[in-house]
Amino acid sequence: MMCQRQEEKYFTWVRLQVPKMRLFIVVFVAVMCVCDGLKFGQLCSGNPDNTRRTSDSWGQGHYGAGRGQRKHEGVDVVCRDGSVVYAPFDVTLHGKVLVYNDPNKAAIDSGIELRGEGLCFKLFYVRPDQTSGSVKKGKRIGVMLPMQSVYPGITSHIHVQMCDKKIDPSPYL
Ligand SMILES: [Zn+2]
Repeated sequence: MMCQRQEEKYFTWVRLQVPKMRLFIVVFVAVMCVCDGLKFGQLCSGNPDNTRRTSDSWGQGHYGAGRGQRKHEGVDVVCRDGSVVYAPFDVTLHGKVLVYNDPNKAAIDSGIELRGEGLCFKLFYVRPDQTSGSVKKGKRIGVMLPMQSVYPGITSHIHVQMCDKKIDPSPYL
């Protein structure tokens, strides 16, 4: 009889513990996912939080915002003209990007392709210091171009776009 009661107690204990374990695992995995999420370090001097462009007379800065017939394929991070641009993590540089290939927008028609942390992405409206090699997180990679000269009154910004444009870069910012 004693033994049976012990067993019952044991199984009651197991029944109580299993849901707790399940909850623990669910919470643990959720926390892991959040910690695992890579975040860009500061992109632009004067904007330590990578604050994004919201809305101005030229449009909105979020991924998927309307751009006439097409959609905005990146996320705009506020950056004043002439600001220093930093590597958001340890990166390698993979060439200059021609943004528009439009002589009317020559003043801001450049960017840089970066890779690191398993990501490939482009930064538009940046004059890169160099277009190959590697740069450590937080080190200078270039200068924000004079966006106001092409889009007067816009919230000057760096456009962050994944090499695979179908991917929304927002979770990384
Ligand atoms: Zn943009």
